[in-house]
Amino acid sequence: MHTQELLRADLVRFSQAVHAKGWVANHDGNLTCRYAEGQLLSTPTAVSKGAVGSEMLIVVSDQDGSVVQGTRKAFSELKLHLAAYRARPDIGAVIHAHPPQATGFAVCHQALDPSIMAEPIVSIGPSIPLVPFGLPGESHLDDELSRALGQADVVLLANHGVLAVGPDLETCMLRIELVEHLAKITLVARQLGGAVALPPETLQKLSDKHAGLFPRNGVAQVSGAPETLGNAQSIVAQALRRLGK
Ligand SMILES: [Zn+2]
Repeated sequence: MHTQELLRADLVRFSQAVHAKGWVANHDGNLTCRYAEGQLLSTPTAVSKGAVGSEMLIVVSDQDGSVVQGTRKAFSELKLHLAAYRARPDIGAVIHAHPPQATGFAVCHQALDPSIMAEPIVSIGPSIPLVPFGLPGESHLDDELSRALGQADVVLLANHGVLAVGPDLETCMLRIELVEHLAKITLVARQLGGAVALPPETLQKLSDKHAGLFPRNGVAQVSGAPETLGNAQSIVAQALRRLGK
């Protein structure tokens, strides 16, 4: 199958999977992936993610979001996706959804802490940033999202939901699945008196493993926001070397 046919099949498959997982209601949620130079393949607006078919997909400009192929309209949250692709030239796909338990944390402005278990740290990193609330298109939201995606591949959007980036749609899907699972475990842990933290030296090893598995190629480090504990240490070490210490 041609690459673009595979991308179309994947977008339909994962759109329906997001709905089947119960991560969206009504017309919520949206998925995009890089399709051609300067172009993204996208779900359209005003369609249940469970009803998306290949003939409904649209191709949009990755600069201004204008529709360049297809008869349907772009969704309003496309601006979030455009900001993500601008911030992360290394990514190939973005999925945004409202999985109920992780979104529960987002509407309470409570961050999720991946460092209570090994698997989330290795797969999604030592932090899941909470991006302050903003309506799609508000420039401060784009700025905050860009900053957060300089540190992590999945973020909570305050009063809104979850957004994941990755090399492909499947990776984005797995990242949201892991965040939702972590939200469920965190809620149970709180009912039982609160999670016990992993030892700091273990956290460091797991963070280093994550950084080795998922290097963010082509992504400029955000000043003051190193992406992992390991990088934080190496940045400090470099600074000390420059000072001759
Ligand atoms: Zn949304």
